[in-house]
Amino acid sequence: MHEVSIMEGIFEIITDNVDEHKLKKVNKVVLQIGEFTCVEEGALRFAFEAFSKNTKAEGAELLIDRVKATAKCGRCGQVFKIAFTNKICPDCGIFSNNVVSGYELLLNEIEGD
Ligand SMILES: [Zn+2]
Repeated sequence: MHEVSIMEGIFEIITDNVDEHKLKKVNKVVLQIGEFTCVEEGALRFAFEAFSKNTKAEGAELLIDRVKATAKCGRCGQVFKIAFTNKICPDCGIFSNNVVSGYELLLNEIEGD
């Protein structure tokens, strides 16, 4: 399952942070997930619970921040919302290949004591 390997990578970063900041407990983890990534939130939460069991992150709140997909127009420079099948600037009517956001898969924040 895709989400398990993603969470495995995220958990490595969490563990590094816990060690580095000598945290006793992780209270909150915030992820940024672009809407173009094929990640299912429920599966991600399930993987988080599985990985956090018996670690300092057990019971931590998992916040998933979905990032809207946007692109920047090569002609007028505006950043506009896009869909997989529609990356056309609403003002110029031209196609933009310059995707600004939507593919994020980031660990944005860790809070702990
Ligand atoms: Zn434009």
